[in-house]
Amino acid sequence: MFHISDLRQFLSCPRILWLNQSGDKQTFNPFIQMIHSMNQDLIIKTKAKDYFIGKQGMSMEDSLDALSKYEWCFNLRFEVHGLRIKVAGLHRVEDGFELYFNTMSVLSRVEDASYFSNHYWVLKQIRIPVVKIFSMYFNKEYVRHGELSVEDCYVLTSDFIKPSGHVQGDILSIVSKRSRDLEPNLTEMNRVSKLESYPITLEECPNPIKCEKFGICFKGLDLGENSIYHFSNPMKKEWLKQGITKIQDIPLDNLVLSKAQYAQIMASRMEGRFVDQRALSYWIDSVRQTIMSFIDFEWDTYGIPPFDQMRPFDVVPFQYSIHYIQDGLVHHKEFLGQGDCREEFIMSLLEHIPSEGPILAYNAFGAEAIRLKQLAFQFPQYEDDLLKLINRFVDLAQVFIDGLVYDERMKGAYSLKRIIEAIHPELSYENLAISHGMDAVYHYRNLVDDEEQDEVKAALLSYCRMDTLAMVKVFQWLESLI
Ligand code: SF4
Repeated sequence: MFHISDLRQFLSCPRILWLNQSGDKQTFNPFIQMIHSMNQDLIIKTKAKDYFIGKQGMSMEDSLDALSKYEWCFNLRFEVHGLRIKVAGLHRVEDGFELYFNTMSVLSRVEDASYFSNHYWVLKQIRIPVVKIFSMYFNKEYVRHGELSVEDCYVLTSDFIKPSGHVQGDILSIVSKRSRDLEPNLTEMNRVSKLESYPITLEECPNPIKCEKFGICFKGLDLGENSIYHFSNPMKKEWLKQGITKIQDIPLDNLVLSKAQYAQIMASRMEGRFVDQRALSYWIDSVRQTIMSFIDFEWDTYGIPPFDQMRPFDVVPFQYSIHYIQDGLVHHKEFLGQGDCREEFIMSLLEHIPSEGPILAYNAFGAEAIRLKQLAFQFPQYEDDLLKLINRFVDLAQVFIDGLVYDERMKGAYSLKRIIEAIHPELSYENLAISHGMDAVYHYRNLVDDEEQDEVKAALLSYCRMDTLAMVKVFQWLESLI
C-alpha cells in the first residue's frame, strides 16, 4: 500500500521509494508545529451538522458506507490500485460531492493542484462525483486575542489565488485538467518496491549531492573539492557529456554567473581560494568596531497561533546565544526558555546584548531580523528597543553571497556549518549531541522543567553557542585573509 507521499518521492527519484520501502524510512518530524489538527477546525469552519469522522486504519467499505449515510464526512480513507488517501472533508450536495482540503499555507496556491489532482483521480476511480473543490488555508491577517477564533483564523475558498491576491482560477477546473492516470506509476512503484537491489550510477541520479540520501546511495564516493557536482548550473549535464568534470574546466563563453559562482570558478583556477582583497578589506573596515556582537536565535514555528498577539506561522524564539568581542576579549551570554517564553526572551536579550557596535548574524535579515520584528509587533512596549537592534544588524552571509571569498573546501555551499567545517574542522557540529537546527526544535518541544532534562538543555545550549562561536571564527578568518 502506498500513500501520496510515496508517489511524490517516486516521481522525484524511484530509488528514494525503494530505499524507504527497504526499511530506510526516517521518522517524520514536522517543521511546523500544530497545537491541534486542522481537521477539527475544518468541521467548525464548514459549520457541518450531521457528520461522520473517520479513523486511522478504517476500510474503504466503511468509508463508502459512511458516505451513503451522512451529509458530511471527514477523514475518510479510500484506496485504488494500492494508493491509499485520506480525504479531509466530503459534503454531499444535490449533484455530487464537494471535496475539502486543508492547506498548510497562507494562500490557496496553484502549486497544490497536483496534490489535489491525485486525490481527485482516486475518487474518480471509485465513482465519487466531485462537483466542487474547496481549500481551507490560514488567514495571514488574523491575530490571536484570547481564545482561538476558528472562523477568523482560516479562509475557505474554491479558487486558487495568486500571491498578488487575484484569482488564478477555479480549483476544480484546474485540478481536473491536471489529473492524469496514476495506474502506470503505481504499477512501476509496485515493481520497484519489490526489487532485491537497486544499483544506480552518479549519472542516473536526478539530484546529486543535494538529495538527503546521497550519502547512502553513494557511500564512500569522494568527489573531491573541485568537482563539477559542486557547481549549480543548468548546463551541468551538458558539460558532463562533454567530459568536463572539474570546475576549472567550465567554459566561460556566454555563461551568466552569480558573484558567488564567479568566485567559485576563480578559486578553482587559483590555488583553491579566491579573495576579492579590495572588497573584503572595505567590508571589514566598515564592520569592525571595538565592540562587536554575534547572535543566533532558535525558534519554533506554529501553524495555528498558540499565544496572544501571534498570527498563523509566527514563531516562538526560545533560545539565543551571543558572543561579543570587547577590547580583544571574547564574552558569551545565552538564554533558553520553555513554553511561551517570548517576553523573557526579549528582556534577557535587551539586558545582555552590548548597547553599541554592530550585531552580526548569519542570514540576519532572512531570520533574526524577522523574529525581532514579530516580537516588536507582539510586545509593542519593547518595539523601539528591538527595532534599534535591527538597525545595527550586519549579515555575515553576505560576504559569501557577494563572492568576496570562496574556498574550495566549502564545496559549493555557503551555510555557516559548511564554512566552519572547511576552515576549522575541529569545530565540527558532528561532535555535538544536537547538531542540527530542527533537532534543537524537536528537543525544545519536549522540554519540561525537570532535572532529568539537564543533559538536553546543555545540548541545546551547546548547539546555539556553537553557531555564534563559529561566526566569531569566520569573522577572524576573514580578517586574516586581508
Ligand atoms: S541520491 Fe540520487 S539516486 Fe539516491 S535517492 Fe537521492 S536522488 Fe535518488
